[in-house]
Amino acid sequence: LHGVVAMDGPSGTGKSTVSRRLARELQADYLDTGAMYRAVTLACLRAGLTAESPAEEITKVALSAGIESVTDPAAPRILLEGEDVEAEIRGEAVTKAVSAVSAVPEVRAALVARQQASIAAASGIVVEGRDIGSVVAPDAGLKIYLTASEEVRAARRNRQDLRAGRTADAAATLADVQRRDRLDSTRKTSPLHAAPDALVLDTDELSVEQVHTALLALVEE
Ligand code: C5P
Repeated sequence: LHGVVAMDGPSGTGKSTVSRRLARELQADYLDTGAMYRAVTLACLRAGLTAESPAEEITKVALSAGIESVTDPAAPRILLEGEDVEAEIRGEAVTKAVSAVSAVPEVRAALVARQQASIAAASGIVVEGRDIGSVVAPDAGLKIYLTASEEVRAARRNRQDLRAGRTADAAATLADVQRRDRLDSTRKTSPLHAAPDALVLDTDELSVEQVHTALLALVEE
């Protein structure tokens, strides 16, 4: 792969699974921008801040946090001050606070700049997030927006949590999916939406395999 594949959409659409798989297949890099927002959120929580802390304090921690993304799709990882925090950033505390942290414009500006640097350093890269096709890589060669109904997304998240050994409560997961969707799509800076030139793929009725096949065909077009 040469250039950028932008993969956007809300959580639970299978975005991470299919993005990683596509990157492996195409021998490209893989950048999980959600992991970056999660790592910054973890840095804030460790600094004693909460989702309600003033934006200036969140910004200060975010700008000084040492975050490094490992973009190998076979073993993607995120490091915070050199520590692998991949497991911790998927936990409940971070998941609860991440929408508030990622709504701070200064946090977004800092992370978008880092994401653009990773993209510039790669020859081919699959980048997943919420604003990749619209803000981070508006010139991406292929822009995909994955969607699925709230119920299907909550069920997928539940399965993911169980597989990772975390507790899963169907009603709580659905409520969390709805809450994050609302926060992510109503924030002032880069609210979640499909870029006008993105291909919208509804995955309710599609398996990972089917989405993967469809994406490969699109890349090769
Ligand atoms: O994709 P993931 O669920 O890990 O993303 C966590 C959160 O990070 C999202 O709910 C959203 O608030 C934020 N995010 C964002 N922009 C991105 C990627 C993630 O605002 N490009």
